[in-house]
Amino acid sequence: MSERIIPLVDLRASQRTVQVPTNAIPATGALHDRLQRPLRDLRISVTDRCNFRCNYCMPKEVFGKDYPYLPHSALLSFEEITRVAGVFAAHGVQKIRLTGGEPLLRKNIERLIEQLATLRTPEGKPLDITLTTNGSLLARKAKDLKAAGLQRVTVSLDGLDDTIFRSMNDVDFPVADVLEGIEAARVAGLGPIKINMVVKRGTNEHEILPMARHFRGTGVVLRFIEYMDVGATNGWRMDEVMPSAEVIRHIQTELPLIQLEPSAPGETAERWGFTDGSGEIGVISSVTQAFCSDCNRARLSTEGKLYLCLFASQGYDLRPLVRSGASDTDLASAVGAIWQQRSDRYSELRASLPPDAGTGSGRRVEMSYIGG
Ligand code: SAM
Ligand code: SF4
Ligand code: SF4
Repeated sequence: MSERIIPLVDLRASQRTVQVPTNAIPATGALHDRLQRPLRDLRISVTDRCNFRCNYCMPKEVFGKDYPYLPHSALLSFEEITRVAGVFAAHGVQKIRLTGGEPLLRKNIERLIEQLATLRTPEGKPLDITLTTNGSLLARKAKDLKAAGLQRVTVSLDGLDDTIFRSMNDVDFPVADVLEGIEAARVAGLGPIKINMVVKRGTNEHEILPMARHFRGTGVVLRFIEYMDVGATNGWRMDEVMPSAEVIRHIQTELPLIQLEPSAPGETAERWGFTDGSGEIGVISSVTQAFCSDCNRARLSTEGKLYLCLFASQGYDLRPLVRSGASDTDLASAVGAIWQQRSDRYSELRASLPPDAGTGSGRRVEMSYIGG
C-alpha cells in the first residue's frame, strides 16, 4: 500500500513572542497551568538530525539530502541549555529527558550531561536525567554516558526481525547493532532500561510477541507505543494504529498479564505484569486513550523554543531572551507566565480537530524537531 507523504512546510519559523511579565513570577517549584497541571518533566531536543529515517517520524521523501537542518549557530549551547533547564528545575521540573533527532549525534553530549547533573530541585535533590536513543551509537558511548551522570536510557526498537527492522529504519541498519547497544547500556548500569516499540499495523505487529518473549525476565521494560499522528509528514492513518487494548489481548494469548498500579502521577505508560513474575511491560495509548489531564511535560527545541504539547503548532522562542542578557529571574518569570496560561490537550480534542491541525493555529511541528 503506498504511503501518503505530505510535503513539509517549515513551521519552525512560526513562533510566539516571549515577554517578561511586569509582575515577577517567582520560581517556587509549584507552578500550575490553567488545567491545574504542574510542570515536572522537561524534554530537551539536542539535535534535529538523525541517522535513521523511520517512516513514521522522518520519511526519506521529506528528510532527503537537501533538507535544511538547523545551522550550528541556531542551536542552544550546552551552557544555555543548562541555564534554561535550571530555571525549569526551579519551577518544579524533576526529570530531564534528552532527545532529538538522535541525541547521541550531538557532539560531546557527555559534557552536557555533566552540566545537567549539577542541577538541583528546590528541595536540593539531583534531577532524574534520562535519554531516548535509537541505540545505533550506544555500544560505543554507554560507558561515557554513565560516567557523565546519565542515569537511564530508553532505546527505540521496533522489532527483532532484521528485515523488518532494516526496512523500518529505512537506512538498512542491522538490529544486531542495536541489541549490542542495549547490552552495553545494561553493563554500564544505565538501567532500568526501557525499550520503546512503535506498533504500526501492517508493518510490525508480528514482532509484538517475539519482542515480549525476548525481553521478559531480563529486567528490561518493553513499552508498546501507538503509532501517533505527530508532525504533518508521516501520512498517518487511523487504520495503521493498533490500539493498546489489542496489543495486550494479543500478548495474553501466550503470556498472561495482570494490570499494575501506575508508578508515578503523569506516567504515560499503563503497566502490565507477567503473572508468572517474570517482569512487566507498558502500553502508551496516546491515540486511543488521552492522558492530557495530568500531562506535566514541556519540550525545549534544539534552538530554544518552548513547546507546551507534542502536537503544538507554535513554540515560544526563549533564545532571544537567553541571549539578550536577561536575568534568571526574568527568564523564570517568562517561563512561569507561559506555563500558567497553558491549556493544551490535543489528544482529548483530536477527534474534533481538522487533519494536521495542532494546538494553536496552524499545522503541527515535527517530532524530530521537538523530540519525543
Ligand atoms: N531518535 C531517538 C529515538 O528514536 O529514540 C529519539 C527521538 S524519537 C523522535 C523519540 C521517540 O518517538 C522514539 O521512541 C520514536 O519511536 C517515537 N516516535 C517517533 N515518531 C512516532 C510516531 N509517529 N508515533 C509514535 N511514536 C513515535
Ligand atoms: Fe530518528 Fe528517532 Fe525519528 Fe527514528 S524515531 S527517525 S531514530 S528521531
Ligand atoms: Fe500532553 Fe499534548 Fe500529549 Fe495531551 S496531547 S498528553 S497535552 S503532549
